[in-house]
Amino acid sequence: MDKEKIKKFLIVDFSKRLTLGDQLKIMFEILFVSWFLFTIVYLFTLFRGNSKPDTPSSAEVSQVQASEISQVQASEQSVEQPSEVSPDLPKPSENGIFKETETVNMKYDEVNKGELILVNKQYPCHTDGEDAVSLMGVKTDSYMVTDYNVSLNESITDALNQWLDDFAEIYGESELMIACGYRSRSNQEELFENEVDDVGEEEAERWVARPGYSEHQTGYVIDFTLYNDIEQGSLKYDGTDIYEWINENCYKYGFIIRYPEGKEEVTGYSYEPWHFRYVGMAAAYYITEYKLTLEEYIDLIQKHDINDPLLIDAGGENKWHCYYVPANENTETYVTVPKGSNYKISGDNFSGFIVTADVDIKG
Ligand SMILES: [Zn+2]
Repeated sequence: MDKEKIKKFLIVDFSKRLTLGDQLKIMFEILFVSWFLFTIVYLFTLFRGNSKPDTPSSAEVSQVQASEISQVQASEQSVEQPSEVSPDLPKPSENGIFKETETVNMKYDEVNKGELILVNKQYPCHTDGEDAVSLMGVKTDSYMVTDYNVSLNESITDALNQWLDDFAEIYGESELMIACGYRSRSNQEELFENEVDDVGEEEAERWVARPGYSEHQTGYVIDFTLYNDIEQGSLKYDGTDIYEWINENCYKYGFIIRYPEGKEEVTGYSYEPWHFRYVGMAAAYYITEYKLTLEEYIDLIQKHDINDPLLIDAGGENKWHCYYVPANENTETYVTVPKGSNYKISGDNFSGFIVTADVDIKG
């Protein structure tokens, strides 16, 4: 096109009245110019996008992978850890932050209930045999009980039977006998008064708890004796000979030696190899492994909340998260627990609740 033609093409002579042809020509020109500019801008952005010199950072790649992974997981209900695929992702905390939680309302008096309640010379027992059952009716043939009055909290009789069945499986018939389980407050009163009469108050306190302060009142405690010794009126079980197995393996069934050697300063009691307390498998493992007492264990758990639970790893699938929730004295306490996991809530008997939750190995 020469200049004259271009001029003719583009310019309309506005000194004349516009004909219909002129009007169409203007519209056509506007449309053409718009299309041309649009095309230029489009091609320019396309070119910029393709030749972008920066490659995405590894973090960006990880995020993309992570979102793809999580989409795949969501669709397949998979529970694989993304960290195995993309090492740049933050790994799940060793202590675990729970994926989903829910709330359980606990009344204030429930602080005094549960398998981790601490009963000692400082903290009295507030329950008195409400859940106790006679062992005579539920025990297996692996051990004896002195009489029908020997009773225990119903929730722990299975663990006790399993423990002593496993013992009997290895060593056969034995003289193993349970002399005492739950002891009522009034029984304890009698026992303490008799002991004071015999040896005086100061010495009596080393061996026998004051009424209300006996751990036997919880129903989570047993005293072993040996059949041939019952007539002598005192406990001769000392955890030696074949019975060493019982003392060494008690923690696997949720029991601890409550008054161990060398911890008199903490427990307030001399070593009692016959006195076992049920605290559940997680606490029993930790207390035994790290040579603690129940006092020291509760003290430790109180330093852990739900955001920083204590991980207890007893090997295999036996892993737990444990943490503490202080109780509200005037109202209910909202205890947050992991949703979908097995957990137990126990009072500590003086200030709050201890949550022991199974660690879901798969998730
Ligand atoms: Zn005892």
